[in-house]
Amino acid sequence: MEKIHNLMLKKIKQTILDELNEEYDIFNNLCSIDYKDYINFMNNNIDTELTSIKFNTSKKKYVSRDILSTHTHQCIARIWNNHKASQCSRQCKENKLCGIHNNMLKKYGKLRFDTIHDPLPMYDNYTNNKLWWF
Ligand SMILES: [Zn+2]
Repeated sequence: MEKIHNLMLKKIKQTILDELNEEYDIFNNLCSIDYKDYINFMNNNIDTELTSIKFNTSKKKYVSRDILSTHTHQCIARIWNNHKASQCSRQCKENKLCGIHNNMLKKYGKLRFDTIHDPLPMYDNYTNNKLWWF
């Protein structure tokens, strides 16, 4: 992630410099010596601004439900995400399932939409309604 953050900062910086150059036609308005000073000055200013950007490197509370996770700590229950098959985002506790899905499995003997490793069910395992997956 460190590498991505650094690339992002580099790209942001370059974009700002490019836009300023274009907007003020810097290169044609300054002689080459001034231009170097200008670039140094802007680089320092942009660096100062960029240090105020805080990347959230802490553990994310939200995991996109569209992406099937390969993390072994994540519950493998398939969930209904507005006609899309998604994966439960909670941490697994038992049987590779989170507390909620594990309780559902114990109570009903099956999961409502099976697990992410099973083929898409044609019918809701609880209501028996036909499922339209998109
Ligand atoms: Zn779950």
